[in-house]
Amino acid sequence: MSSYVIDPPKAAAVPVAGGGHFPVRRIFCVGRNYAEHTREMGGDPDREEPFFFTKPSDAVLTGGADMPYPTKTADLHHEMELVVAIGKGGKDIAEADALGHVFGYAAGLDMTRRDLQAAAKKAGRPWDMSKGFDLSAPIGEIVPAAKAGHPAAGLIELKVNGKVRQTSDLAKQIWNVPETIAYLSGLVELAPGDLIMTGTPEGVAAVVKGDLLEGSIAGVGSIRTRIV
Ligand code: MN
Repeated sequence: MSSYVIDPPKAAAVPVAGGGHFPVRRIFCVGRNYAEHTREMGGDPDREEPFFFTKPSDAVLTGGADMPYPTKTADLHHEMELVVAIGKGGKDIAEADALGHVFGYAAGLDMTRRDLQAAAKKAGRPWDMSKGFDLSAPIGEIVPAAKAGHPAAGLIELKVNGKVRQTSDLAKQIWNVPETIAYLSGLVELAPGDLIMTGTPEGVAAVVKGDLLEGSIAGVGSIRTRIV
């Protein structure tokens, strides 16, 4: 469009296994979606409805690039997560139809300034600056569902410097992918390009400069970044 008064923003994009790029529109994140992680954060997994927060699209970090240690924190945490890439939009999507809206899946990290999040929780303030900061969403290649199917179970694991820090199974998600899409699409109309980070299992912990994070999800792929 010729009437823009400044250059329009460039779309963030995630490489797709086998070629091409997935343009990113919004990033929705599910909070507390594995019972053991809910407990380690002080919650009760039996009584809580799903809740969501967001990251800006340009928080994505791709290609195994290094992640700069962010400003204003002394407690940067890793959260290893299954990422769902929405290929077809919709609102009030039925659970039975939900997987038809998925383009593919990736392994990702919901990096978190845990100290700022704890302060925000205590003060009843938003999480944005603890969750949605620059380069807070390292994401691996997206594997098309047409090629790899829809993983409902399988190992999800994160190693830091070669040592296992998080290990669980996708089957332990409190809200599975169809349920998450159905619930979220009742709150907002989903659109092609949206990503959903589906929550982390237990074992979240701090990282420091120099740490190498290597995550993998069975049947989906991997994510790698070094904190610098
Ligand atoms: Mn998370």
